[in-house]
Amino acid sequence: MPCKLAAGNWKMNGLRADLDELRALIVAHPNPDCGVLICPPATLLSPMADIAAGSRVLLGGQDCHTGDSGAHTGDISAPMLADAGARHVILGHSERRADHGESSGLVAAKARAAHRVGLTAIICLGETEVERDAGTTLDVVLGQLRQSLPEGASAVNTIIAYEPVWAIGTGRTPTLEQIAEVHDALRAALPDAEMSLLYGGSVKPGNAAEIFALANVDGALVGGASLKAADFGAIIAALDAA
Ligand code: PEP
Repeated sequence: MPCKLAAGNWKMNGLRADLDELRALIVAHPNPDCGVLICPPATLLSPMADIAAGSRVLLGGQDCHTGDSGAHTGDISAPMLADAGARHVILGHSERRADHGESSGLVAAKARAAHRVGLTAIICLGETEVERDAGTTLDVVLGQLRQSLPEGASAVNTIIAYEPVWAIGTGRTPTLEQIAEVHDALRAALPDAEMSLLYGGSVKPGNAAEIFALANVDGALVGGASLKAADFGAIIAALDAA
């Protein structure tokens, strides 16, 4: 069975004052059945690692470079993330693909760098609204999957997140049928059927349970609703109940 995971992507949000949200989450959900992961901005990884020590909460980065070190001002490497306490790294988020022109080939190279140091790569895929309206969703998503997965990707070192670009941060979600269609197609195309498949895009406490009830949804990658312990905690509880 693929592992169930509630993953929070804090994006470029969070100051030290917000560390109380992590403390509150650990107190409210000390023993979740599902995996719980928070990917804060890199500046909060170390303090979060101190707070999360001894808890079930795992930490992750939001991107990494293809190299381990070197002259790359402003970048962060996979060994640095691991050294700061990360176990996972989000790669190929649509905001990186759009804002930084990241191709699927680059995502695969970043995933190789993550795997070299034992980080689990969470590889994000998703169609734009134009692509969905054109009826090309499955072609786009399956093409991104093929090109973003490095050789050797397995359930042990890789998680896939399906995130329709038009659903991220918009409050709009696909229908359950639309989510199921993509997740079923992804499951059939994965090199390892045990790989976890997350859905992402405006997951909230109010819609989490019905999404988690779908056969090939193993959890969620959550943006906005992961910033507050109460909201993220409700999503964790819905995943535990699924
Ligand atoms: C995301 O950024 O990965 C995401 C799913 O964001 P939101 O939950 O805010 O739509």
